[in-house]
Amino acid sequence: MDGSKINGKTVTEETLLEEGYRKYSGEELDIYYSKDICAHIGNCVRGNPDVFEVGRRPWIITDNGDVEEDIRVINTCPSGALKYIRKDGR
Ligand code: SF4
Repeated sequence: MDGSKINGKTVTEETLLEEGYRKYSGEELDIYYSKDICAHIGNCVRGNPDVFEVGRRPWIITDNGDVEEDIRVINTCPSGALKYIRKDGR
């Protein structure tokens, strides 16, 4: 699933926060997560446990992975619970 879009439209921070996503800021990328949508399948944790670790607070630390790697893992989320917004202009 493309973590930069919802229903084919590029996401904005406003929409994500309205939809109940929480923001996990990084320097060049922000990750957004919706616990209501999460299906607990664990692709994120298996994909990069440095960034996604259940039981840690915060459970997502965006800057523990680089931008491309974070996006790769986010796009493996099958439910749409993970989204991202790039801040590096790419
Ligand atoms: S990959 Fe997505 S659906 Fe699966 S646990 Fe992570 S956030 Fe939840």
